[in-house]
Amino acid sequence: MSTAGLHITRALARDLGGRRVTVLGGARSGLAAARLLSEHGAAVLLSDSRPIEAAARATMQSLGVRIEEGGHTPRVLEADFIVTSPGVPDTAPPMQWAREAGLPIVSELELASWFCEVPIVAITGSNGKTTTTSLMGHLLRKAGLPTVVCGNIGSPFSAHVSGLVPGSVVVLEVSSFQLDHVHTFRPHVAMVLNVTEDHLDRYGYDMGRYAAAKFRIAAFQRPGDAFIYCMDDALSIDFVQTLGPGGPRKLGFTLADEPNHPSLPDAAGYLKDGSLMLRLDNQEERLMQPDELALRGRHNVYNSLAAAVAARVLEVRSDVMRESLRTFEGVPHRLEPVREIDGVRYVNDSKATNVNAVWYALESFSEPIVLIAGGRDKGNDYGKLAPLVEKRVRALITIGEAAEAIHTRLGPMVQDAVMADTLADAVHLAHLLARSGDVVLLSPACASFDMFDSYEDRGDQFKQLVSNL
Ligand code: ADP
Repeated sequence: MSTAGLHITRALARDLGGRRVTVLGGARSGLAAARLLSEHGAAVLLSDSRPIEAAARATMQSLGVRIEEGGHTPRVLEADFIVTSPGVPDTAPPMQWAREAGLPIVSELELASWFCEVPIVAITGSNGKTTTTSLMGHLLRKAGLPTVVCGNIGSPFSAHVSGLVPGSVVVLEVSSFQLDHVHTFRPHVAMVLNVTEDHLDRYGYDMGRYAAAKFRIAAFQRPGDAFIYCMDDALSIDFVQTLGPGGPRKLGFTLADEPNHPSLPDAAGYLKDGSLMLRLDNQEERLMQPDELALRGRHNVYNSLAAAVAARVLEVRSDVMRESLRTFEGVPHRLEPVREIDGVRYVNDSKATNVNAVWYALESFSEPIVLIAGGRDKGNDYGKLAPLVEKRVRALITIGEAAEAIHTRLGPMVQDAVMADTLADAVHLAHLLARSGDVVLLSPACASFDMFDSYEDRGDQFKQLVSNL
């Protein structure tokens, strides 16, 4: 029988012996969660709607984890609580059953956090998470802090918590799905980079619900913790107004020039006469010029300011910050330079899986652009790109399931608009259409799963095709 109504607290970390826990999802997060739970004495059932990979199955069985694969059964409810993976939507049948049965649902991130005694810097947002998380890791490592970078960016938090040494810091990339089911998760520093349309399919096309999930990153923060947010983002401004005296310290970042900004009390990272500025505890400091940053584009000025504010909360010295922001090499598939052929630069931005990321990509270049876009539609409004496409894009090549929708919406804004059947055709066409001085940019605005295994696969294939030209 289930013990519905169990109260979820961090103390459960010490009280897992003999508890029955069902883990939903047998990919990386679920496997790491199942291992962590069984190492702490829980009786674990791992349930997946699809078959579990053979090697993973063998490892789980050796740990004593019971497995249900290729479909969920009501056995998932024979548990004290459920741990869910980020890939399992709230609408999945076992999630519905658990809700109906009143079983607590805990995300993999929440579970891992019970075992973490060192400060966490948690980073979320619609765009820029991976870039800022890895930039943050680079900053803290340069400052000499033992730093573990994990979460959405690579391996799950659960896989790291057992090995954390005192004095270290965890930098955690967090998706909104992980935040849907937090109950106690309390990062010392929480960051919401921006909240723009993405993944609306998972939130009933309701922007309010999606934004609320992101802001749960701060739900259990207290005074002494820091909440870093974008002051140029209307939804973030609305949210910070709900944070009362029992909540975290509010630290904003903005690209507005200091003298004109009405809400300066919270501004900890901003521009002044073109320089990046920091101001915490009323100490204003000029950090550096935007053109000294290793990362290009306005969006990366935001990411760098946010990371610098977090680094300052953790008392990283300014010279270390400058050096780190100058030397950070960036992350593959995010505006990644590939090659130059006959004066045409090819850039791989395969990770641009939503409209906002493409917007910033288009804005980053002053050269005419040959844009390759398309893939699996996630419910985004391509029309938002129309003014920038009209100004910056010379030719538009669309691919994948969304090819026609994008072609119809944005084709009329450009000189040449073509639909291609494959990425290979698209690259070939781009090569024909581009002139010396142009940029050929793969920045799809869509998910990759219609034609590729992942955005990495899409980006790697693009790079291969470009290197064959
Ligand atoms: P995420 O992990 O949130 O998906 P990434 O760092 O992987 O973010 O970047 C995804 C895409 O968004 C890339 O195309 C990148 O150039 C763009 N991007 C990065 N930072 C920002 C930002 N602050 N605002 C808008 N777009 C951004």
